[in-house]
Amino acid sequence: MTHYFISDLHLDAQHPKMSNGFFGFVKNLQESGSAKAESLYILGDFFETWVGDDYQDSLSEQIKCSLKELSDSGVAVYFMHGNRDFLMGEQFANQCGGTLLDEDTIITVGNDRALLMHGDSLCTRDIEYMKARQLLRNPLWQADFLSKPMDARVAFAAQARSESQSSQQMKANDIMDVTQADVDSEMTKAGVVRLIHGHTHRPNTHSWEFNGEARERIVLGDWSDSKGWMIRWEAGELPSLESFEF
Ligand code: MN
Repeated sequence: MTHYFISDLHLDAQHPKMSNGFFGFVKNLQESGSAKAESLYILGDFFETWVGDDYQDSLSEQIKCSLKELSDSGVAVYFMHGNRDFLMGEQFANQCGGTLLDEDTIITVGNDRALLMHGDSLCTRDIEYMKARQLLRNPLWQADFLSKPMDARVAFAAQARSESQSSQQMKANDIMDVTQADVDSEMTKAGVVRLIHGHTHRPNTHSWEFNGEARERIVLGDWSDSKGWMIRWEAGELPSLESFEF
């Protein structure tokens, strides 16, 4: 029984090749046979934007169908919010037959444990973003936003996206990465030696020692029109970060 982890697909209607790559990935999990998939963890920024579960387009309908089929076939589907799709709600998760996870979730695989995060909360040197995050994750702000008409929400999301793109170009490269001290304190708090996250688009497996304890941080990669990233983890084995072509 194998657990799969993906993040940062940033799916939208403008990237049909990537969406098709995702549908192919889901089919493979469904037909995984002897290497049977037990669960699929989607660790945030699954969508490029999410303006509410009442938003409808053909891509989101196809995604719901694809994930519902997967969950009906016996694979547990889990979602974690990213900084783009933090408004993804219970309704969407239910329609996919999936479950929304808290932003810091500890899982057990065999005798091992891991902390799962999207990763944006670890990029604490990006002070401007951390401030915006506080507002965007406020339930009152979210309720107010979700009460607005759909076209206003779509316009706001497009604006926020272009502002974030231009401000990111101005930021030093290392500001956009995790802060090691925060990684260590989150891991200590969770009592884990392994952390899995995405967000930074810097796929890698980092190993280091903290107070004599061997620790590992596995970072998922972002998907493109031709390539995806995943972590495959079977109980009793080490998790492995892999990329694959569509
Ligand atoms: Mn992100």
